[in-house]
Amino acid sequence: MIILGGTTEGYALAEALASRPGVRVISSLAGRTDNPRLPAGETRVGGFGGAEGLADFLLTVQADAVIDATHPFAAAMGWNAHVGCAAAAVPLLRIERPAWQPQPGDQWFEADDWEGARARLLARGARRVLLALGRQELAPFAGLDDIHFLIRAVSAPDPMPPFADAELLLARGPFGLEDERALLAEHRIDTIVCKNSGGTATAAKLTAARERGIEVVMRRRPPRPQRPTVARVDEALAWLERKLDHPPEH
Ligand code: NAP
Repeated sequence: MIILGGTTEGYALAEALASRPGVRVISSLAGRTDNPRLPAGETRVGGFGGAEGLADFLLTVQADAVIDATHPFAAAMGWNAHVGCAAAAVPLLRIERPAWQPQPGDQWFEADDWEGARARLLARGARRVLLALGRQELAPFAGLDDIHFLIRAVSAPDPMPPFADAELLLARGPFGLEDERALLAEHRIDTIVCKNSGGTATAAKLTAARERGIEVVMRRRPPRPQRPTVARVDEALAWLERKLDHPPEH
């Protein structure tokens, strides 16, 4: 079976399945980060070449199930999985952590894309902004020359977009509340820009922002195909057990 991974859930699934006798598990990573943490068990890295390439891959390795554990914002892979699994007649389950919801005291501005987030920073006159984004998502914010950006990313942007005033902080979650409080205070952050990833690993910044009374410009999740979806790893394992016990007829 195949795990489309790159997330906490993907790693946890691989870990849970690696030691099961008689189950061949291949985790797939896109290869976006220079130094990826490797999942337990077998791993392949790099794109498949669209839905068609994925279907070919599934047939080649004789996959009997796919779990799409990609990040909520990895929507292209979600659509490819939907189409590719249908083409190869392989059952597909989506595992997706619930989106964060605003809590009392939160000051969120929700945007559908980075252009909307950029416009919001300008409209509010933000001055010191934490960009908690992927390194491929920074470009829309370069050119806002009156803003000091603290860019937190897992690996360094290459090339770095032409920011007038930016500081790079390379760090991989999880991030604790004390550290997030200290970061916002030390850098006198007045706005956070992030996406609605959900989960606990990177949620502490939202609590720290609430306590500090600063705005969070939150990008909404992109649409994904309507698929059977579970929120937790144990539910995905239960689904898998049912599928592997009752394989579809080819
Ligand atoms: P994306 O925009 O949905 O996908 C773009 C292309 O990257 C896909 O069409 C596919 O290429 C390839 N790809 C994506 N995920 C893959 C995987 N697990 N295995 C093999 N190929 C994959 O994806 P993305 O947002 O760049 O995310 C890439 C990876 O990083 C995913 O594994 C995701 O779980 C992880 N991640 C993403 C985010 C995020 O915010 N986007 C955050 C944390 C982790 P082909 O069409 O050539 O097959």
